[in-house]
Amino acid sequence: MKISHFIAGQPHAGSGIHTGPVFNPSNGHKLYDLDYGDSDLVDHAVAVAKKAGAEWAKTSQARRLQIIFKMRELVIANTDRIAEITGQENGKTLADAKGEIGRALEALEYATNAAQISKGEYSLNVGGGIDVYSFRQPVGVVGCIAPFNFPVMVPLMMASMAIACGNAVILKPSEKVPGASFLLSELWKEAGLPDGVWNMVNGGKEVVDGILTNPDIPAISFVGSTAIGEYIYQKGSHHGKRVAAYTGGKNHMVVMPDADLEAAASAFVSAAYGSASQRCMAISLLLPVGKQTADKLIELIVPKIKALRMGAYNDPKADFGAVISTVSKEQVLASIDTAIEQGGELIIDGRFGEDSNGFYVGASLIDNVTVEMEMYKKEIFGPVRGIVRVNSLDEAIDVTNHHEYGNGAVIYTRDGNSAHRFTVEVKAGMLGVNVAVPVPVGHHNFGGLRRSKFGDAHMFGPDAARFYSDLKTVSQRWPESGGDSHTLSMAFPSNE
Ligand code: NAD
Repeated sequence: MKISHFIAGQPHAGSGIHTGPVFNPSNGHKLYDLDYGDSDLVDHAVAVAKKAGAEWAKTSQARRLQIIFKMRELVIANTDRIAEITGQENGKTLADAKGEIGRALEALEYATNAAQISKGEYSLNVGGGIDVYSFRQPVGVVGCIAPFNFPVMVPLMMASMAIACGNAVILKPSEKVPGASFLLSELWKEAGLPDGVWNMVNGGKEVVDGILTNPDIPAISFVGSTAIGEYIYQKGSHHGKRVAAYTGGKNHMVVMPDADLEAAASAFVSAAYGSASQRCMAISLLLPVGKQTADKLIELIVPKIKALRMGAYNDPKADFGAVISTVSKEQVLASIDTAIEQGGELIIDGRFGEDSNGFYVGASLIDNVTVEMEMYKKEIFGPVRGIVRVNSLDEAIDVTNHHEYGNGAVIYTRDGNSAHRFTVEVKAGMLGVNVAVPVPVGHHNFGGLRRSKFGDAHMFGPDAARFYSDLKTVSQRWPESGGDSHTLSMAFPSNE
């Protein structure tokens, strides 16, 4: 079986010269081959999207939103199918995949507000009988480049608002998980979206570079690793595009001595190891404040972590699944060796015990991590988490701010002042107070700070409607005949 591109409302084989395998991480078997596109195919898809987008932009807002509503219904009706494909390609459990689909629905639901969020303003008689109004128009064709870890949520979060605002999209899904996006392509068509408004071009760097350089794509949204996001931001900006790039995370969870430690322990284990830790908002580092807090927390979390069961995506007893690839598995295992070499204490060792061909790494935990260690510095996209022991809230905030990333950060405490200081002083975009995965709901902006995000725009939440549209401001006067508008004046216009 082969997965092709989806252009102009139908599967498109492309040149067919180059294909790559897509694996099932749960058993290591090849699922199918994927057609890889090139920049010529991107150019073709963009030409299709530009034409379709121009018509789509003229379609009434009411009609556009009906299609978003219909897509929502179809995603709900096809939840089991979408979850199955997501689990097969990504390795996450079906329960986790369904949770992801729930958040993807939130994006579709919020996109039905596009007309409200993107409406303009009007000022009557600002001076000299002039009225000023502003309005938003779709930008045209939007390039969406997605990661492997949320095969449904990220493409839908990117595309729903872009489409609702009247744009056409070129989606480049991760080459590791293209099947879910292919099914979404079919669902968009079934929802009544005109052909060519949603297009999917598969592949790797060549397709991405085609998107970054095509002059008919004015806006690019990207989600993925920091190295690639920075490249996309720089190259896209160089080519005159607006770019929103959401990148890596290393999310710290501070636990104060006054916190409900039992609640904090459960929250840490879920937020740290869920989805085999392959979430940008996963907790990566636990920062207990004070020795007593650290010792008590370790006592509470160790049995919970040891009880976690990894397994195939469709094993109903599995708490989390395999990591995405053999390369990823090797990197995660190597990170444990490095942590030990650099002085970390491995208190839970998940390296052994799985003899299937799947890409499994068991939950592992390293104590006594310091800011000098790779375990602190690097994002590890697999179930290896660290404990950084700190002695005060000040030190916890310093350590959190020391990291180059600022995606999410969390505090567990019963003290309002500690929580307030944390939210004000920590430089991360999404903060949790007794909430371990502070991913905002669809009607709030999502996004990190520092090297977790490039570009000042948001592609999810209310700002997305602004990112996916151009603002124009019109000053207009309709003078009565015989007024003073024939008078010559060389002065800069004033509003008097
Ligand atoms: P990735 O950067 O490897 O890939 C992301 C996209 O970039 C894919 O479509 C891929 O094909 C493309 N790509 C890969 N190498 C490229 C290259 N050399 N040139 C051009 N394009 C290239 O990321 P991933 O492994 O798929 O996803 C995991 C990463 O995504 C993690 O770092 C995670 O934190 C991050 N992420 C961030 C958020 C967020 O909101 N901040 C959300 C989800 C995931």
